[in-house]
This record gives sequence, C-alpha cells and structure tokens, in this order.
Amino acid sequence: MPGIHARRRTALRASLQATELDALLVTDLLNLRYLTGFTGSNGALLLAADDDAKSVFCTDGRYDTQAKRQVPDLHWLIDRPCDLVLVAAAADAGLGRLGFESHRVTVDGHSALVHAAPKVELVRAPGLVEALRVVKDDTEVEALRMACAAADRAFADLVAHNGLRPGRTEKEVARELEQRMLDHGAAGPSFESIVATGANSAVPHHRPTDAVLRRGDLVKMDFGALVDGYHSDMTRTVVLGRAADWQLEIYQLVADAQAAGRAALAPGADVREVDAAAREVIEQAGYGEQFVHGLGHGVGLEIHEAPALSRLGDGKLAAGMAVTVEPGVYLAGRGGVRIEDTLVVRDTAPELLTLTTKELVVV
Ligand code: ZN
Ligand code: ZN
Repeated sequence: MPGIHARRRTALRASLQATELDALLVTDLLNLRYLTGFTGSNGALLLAADDDAKSVFCTDGRYDTQAKRQVPDLHWLIDRPCDLVLVAAAADAGLGRLGFESHRVTVDGHSALVHAAPKVELVRAPGLVEALRVVKDDTEVEALRMACAAADRAFADLVAHNGLRPGRTEKEVARELEQRMLDHGAAGPSFESIVATGANSAVPHHRPTDAVLRRGDLVKMDFGALVDGYHSDMTRTVVLGRAADWQLEIYQLVADAQAAGRAALAPGADVREVDAAAREVIEQAGYGEQFVHGLGHGVGLEIHEAPALSRLGDGKLAAGMAVTVEPGVYLAGRGGVRIEDTLVVRDTAPELLTLTTKELVVV
C-alpha cells in the first residue's frame, strides 16, 4: 500500500493529465512538504504526469540525511538551485510541457527557468496542489485534532491555574498560553497569540501589550498550536468578575451567530451563504456594522488558506475541508467578543476539533 505522500502525488497526476501537462515543477515549500513529507527550507519537486519513475526530488547538501529519511520513495538529487536543475532534468527526460507554480514564481525566477531550458514549454499552473490541500485526508485531520487538543488543554490549564486574574498583563497571559501549548505537544504557537483585555478586546487583531487585566474586563484570546506542520485556531472571550448586561448581550449574540455558522457547514454549501447564516443573526440584532470581518477561513499547513468563508469568498464546501467559524462583535472603546472554533466539514454534522466550552467563562 503506497504511503500518504505517494497517494497525494497520484491525486495530483489526475489534474496534470486534465491540463495536458507532462510534469509540474513544485517550488512552494508547503506544497513540497504535502507531496513528499520533506520539511527542509530548500527543495523542489519535478512531478511527472505518468508516474513517480520519472519524478525527481531535489534539495541541497545540508539536507542530505534528512532527505534520505523523509523522501525515501522518490529519485532525488543534491544540487542547487533546485528549480533550474529540475527544469533541465525535465528537458533531458523529454517532458516538454512543464507546468510551474506561477502564483509563487517571481518574474525574475521565471526568466531564469526559461533560460535554463529553452526547449521546455513553461505553462502557468497556479494552485494545483492547493486545490488538493483544501480537502484534508485522515493524516491531516489527525494532526489538526492534536493541534486543537494542545490549545484546548493549554486554555484549560491557564484557567485552572488562575492565569486569568486582575493585575496580569496581556503579554504575560499570551506567554503562559504559548508555554502551556508547548507543554501539551505543540512545536510552537500557530500564529502570534492575541490576548486583548477591556477596550482592547474591540480590536479584532490586537497584539498583546503591557495593558493590565481588570475586574469587569472582557478578555479575548485568539491562539492556536502547531503540530506536525498543521495549525489550530481558536478564540474564546471570558469576563473577569461579574458580567455587565451589555457584555452578556453581545456574548450571547456572538454565540448564537457562531452556532448558526457551524450549523451551515455542509458539503455543497456556498461559502457566502455560510457567512450569511451567521451574519444575519448579528445584523438582525443591529450589530451588523460591528462584525467587520469574514466568518472564517480554511486551516491546514497554513493558518489562513482556502476556502474563505466570507462575502468575498467563492465556491462550495466539500466533506473534509477544515475551516474556522469566528464571528465577532466589536464595540469601539468598550470591548468586543469573538468566538472561534476549528471544524471539519462532514457529510453528517461538522466535526468540532476545538472542544473548549463556549459557555461564557466568568473568572
Ligand atoms: Zn483565530
Ligand atoms: Zn481564524
């Protein structure tokens, strides 16, 4: 039985054949990782449309040992620059129509490719691997599950150890969250953690400061863990001490909108309709202007990837897509609430990966 990377390469071959390419030059490092398992910082893959026999993986001498271990199932060579070496290899192998990742290659890079093998026809082939990556296989979902679990556990520990208490700074809370994610198996945070207290919680992408948590504050935390290259993404908003009526009101509103967004996740659903399902709840309550961003985004090897669940998005959901659902209401100068989960679209109900409670936590 072929390994997971070989199966992904087989899936990609179908799109190469559909676009009548003899091969694809993969230079994007995340796409390279997806197709080969290689995690180094320099490499490329010439993927032949026929089979792996003509495919070649390339990296430089620093990764000799690592490539032997991570890419045991492909021909490979140690050379540089890999993109030019592989274009020349394509010419030698008679692969005349060569797709390249035109959404990643610079104008200068393209000139160099043309120069390296004038007889090869270079064809723009943007997004072919990304189109596969949008639907996660079991290996990927398992990595996402572990990443989400690390974030869940970190948050539970933070609350259990009284980490959210008046007098601490946003930066201190962010550092503790990140340390606890490491303790639970994360390789690192999946992006710069957001901890925003009081009026700062009304800033959607606030960066942690020395601002001090105070009784009565909403504290919004948006964070995630990185496991096996996969990113989790979760936002929870808590209140320190007794919640005021306006805080309860927007919390419940965002929770209702978030539930509506989650309920709209189904194969075949238009991404704009999923956004609308949550947005309508907020608009009907009169806070539409205060929900200033899209509902969610895909997550995987990148923290933000396709599909975009937003009014500007395009396309339909499919089973196996991993997405966030993260509505928010932000009242400038007062405070804001966002609630975000990471989920996998399934034929039945979506699978929730971030399991931390969405009841309002009062600490
Ligand atoms: Zn987030
Ligand atoms: Zn997000």
